[in-house]
Amino acid sequence: MTKVKPPVSKNETIELTFEDLTHEGSGVGKVNGYPLFVPYALPGETAKVKVIKVKKNFGFGKLIEIQEKNEDRIEPPCDVFYQCGGCQIQHMSYNMQLQMKQKQVRDNLRKIAHLDNVPVRNVIGMEDPWRYRNKVQIPVGAKDGEIVTGFYQKKSHRIIDMDTCPITDEQNDRMVEAVRRLAEDVGIEPYDEETHKGTLRHIMVRNGKETNDLMVVLVTRTEKLPYKEKIVADLRKAFPNVKSILQNVNTKKTNVILGNKNITLWGEDHIYDMIGDIKFKISAKSFYQVNPVQTKKLYDKALEYANLTGSETVIDAYCGIGTISLFLAQKAKKVYGVEVVPEAITDAKVNAQLNKIDNAEFFVGQAEKVMDWWKAQGLRPDVIVVDPPRKGCDETLLRAMIEMKPKRIVYVSCNPSTLARDINILKEGSYEMKEVQPVDMFPQTTHVEAVAQLVLKEESADSM
Ligand code: SAH
Repeated sequence: MTKVKPPVSKNETIELTFEDLTHEGSGVGKVNGYPLFVPYALPGETAKVKVIKVKKNFGFGKLIEIQEKNEDRIEPPCDVFYQCGGCQIQHMSYNMQLQMKQKQVRDNLRKIAHLDNVPVRNVIGMEDPWRYRNKVQIPVGAKDGEIVTGFYQKKSHRIIDMDTCPITDEQNDRMVEAVRRLAEDVGIEPYDEETHKGTLRHIMVRNGKETNDLMVVLVTRTEKLPYKEKIVADLRKAFPNVKSILQNVNTKKTNVILGNKNITLWGEDHIYDMIGDIKFKISAKSFYQVNPVQTKKLYDKALEYANLTGSETVIDAYCGIGTISLFLAQKAKKVYGVEVVPEAITDAKVNAQLNKIDNAEFFVGQAEKVMDWWKAQGLRPDVIVVDPPRKGCDETLLRAMIEMKPKRIVYVSCNPSTLARDINILKEGSYEMKEVQPVDMFPQTTHVEAVAQLVLKEESADSM
């Protein structure tokens, strides 16, 4: 075989026309069939590009100057967009972002699950795709003798000093700023990752969109924290709706943000929020969806796909603090939830009581093991809902579901490629994919969330 040399060399500047977009939001342009990936370039654009990495079959470039712009290119509203690792696609109009996400779901279903004709609905977007995040965890550091708070630079641990993050709830932003100023005023040392010295490591803030409850957590390296009374008094004065002021002690040299010890400096150790009619208790460590407005739309869709009449037995696998389970319980006879984190199940049980829901039961364990056990016990649910992490469902769980023959499976996914892989297996097991509804939970980022409805084909249901 003759070795084909890539048609570009490192550090060369070329003119490139872009035809496609990767799932990470990079533009793709080709030089004699050789693809170059260029962050922030958009399809339809022509630009000067500096080649920065050349591999055998593809390379990477850096955008130098755009000569012809895509009309969907917009000026990113955030000052630090090009440095920060938080958002990836602020340079696209929101409409373009939604189309990109719909295409990503469609492409994955086509390529991995060989489904060409399944309806992938238009992505349910936000009316205002900014200021949606109800939680921030901001690292604290020092620069020129001053305390800085911000996000990490892409692929690094250098903190980018920022005053505001436009996808974060404004109140949470202001709270971070208030804590930073207080730390400056009273002289709390910022933490230094390198030397493992200093005190204040992170500031975490959470708010309840519906309740307006506010929680702030000062994550410190030591239990000793000076001026606690002043911190509490000042924060309460500036934020009359604060319900929970906590200190979390993390003594370890680690990337994990929260340590094991929580100290309530003032108020409760939790806040509440509502999704629809259901109230949730949220602790500092609980997993809770970060975009409450879109969560409601996602859960409504999952409920619609479950198509409950009140007589069904339902399993909610990977249930977290029971959010989807309790949503389903309002319309089902009985819901069983399973989740691997014990604290989440404790919260799920509390949340059921809080809402006077007595037809939901929660189990701690790996969903794949518990599902197998339920199957062996003879449990035959009418509907199964799964909401796995990015890596998707364990194959054992998919096989167990197939054998349990629920009439409908509702698959909530935060990763279209594992969704498509898992659908492939369910397809073999007589499940037919009816439709997919993507929901934009994370505007300005490349994350894609989707909910899919699968139904058992009639023949196989009848042959039981
Ligand atoms: N449905 C919930 C949580 C979804 S996030 C909500 O919408 O809020 C996915 C959840 O799966 C996490 O809570 C995670 O702890 C849990 N998880 C991860 N692996 C698991 C496994 N093997 N078995 C059960 N739960 C698991």
